[in-house]
Amino acid sequence: MATPGPARHAPPPEEREPFVPGDAIADVHAHSTRSDGVLEPAELVRQVHEAGVRLFALADHDNLAGYRELVAPGAAPLPPGLVLVPAVEINAITRGLGLELAEGELHVLGIGVDPADEAFEAALAAQRGARRARFFATVDLLRQIGLPIDAQVAELDLTGDDALGRPTVARALIRAGLADSVEDAFRRILSHGQPGYVPRTGLGPVEAIHAIRAAGGLASIAHFWEAPDQLALLRGLMDEGLDGLESHHRSFDEETRRRVGETARALGLVETGGTDYHGDLGPYAEAHSGLVMPDELVAGLRTALGV
Ligand SMILES: [Zn+2]
Ligand SMILES: [Zn+2]
Repeated sequence: MATPGPARHAPPPEEREPFVPGDAIADVHAHSTRSDGVLEPAELVRQVHEAGVRLFALADHDNLAGYRELVAPGAAPLPPGLVLVPAVEINAITRGLGLELAEGELHVLGIGVDPADEAFEAALAAQRGARRARFFATVDLLRQIGLPIDAQVAELDLTGDDALGRPTVARALIRAGLADSVEDAFRRILSHGQPGYVPRTGLGPVEAIHAIRAAGGLASIAHFWEAPDQLALLRGLMDEGLDGLESHHRSFDEETRRRVGETARALGLVETGGTDYHGDLGPYAEAHSGLVMPDELVAGLRTALGV
């Protein structure tokens, strides 16, 4: 989940103008129901293709299940012309590393990882276990501070090990009448420094980069708007194998894209970009209309991924 922006109150669907798709033909960062998104992988891929995207990475948190389903024998064929790339997003912990970062985390995208790599799958399974433990610790904490969501959580299907994220908690808070929107839940309750925040456990950024590289993926730091002021950190991570920097996250304004893009090029990092679509703010086409992916960026990404 990206750093939440200001609350938005979307008009009801029947009052909305149809979204005019942007011209981005690539999106290498989006989430499905196999982590904390709201669309099934096949439906997400359908909407992505309809919006004009032809290079797409499904980057669920700690989970390649969506990709595997989409390419499994017997699955519906992918939309024509769409290149689907397996990817994950690992929310790596920076606590204890002496870094002053907004959320105490760096999100590392692993783009083009080998979905058959057993060691990588074991690392992801451990991450999912830690995420699940954090989810239930958050539910306990919310009960203790008078914001119970136990009834809403009881309605969820918790049998699988799909990633249960803070957006899942946020949606339960909305259903319980305790928050107005996902953004509202993050801002007042779930963000670092707020009363419902539980620290994450799991991989640090160096371990995440090593795991991604060992599985053949391109490691890119997601939505890191602080990048221009963190050159020493980035250089240190490049020594550990960092390949890329997400200079074109949908939430970035033009100035942020320019500054983070300049940082990537100055360091020799591959620029990546994506919607980080979770589904909370509307249909995929709306997120896509805000995504900017220059031709040179897409070309560099294709070269780096070999697709
Ligand atoms: Zn993220
Ligand atoms: Zn994301």
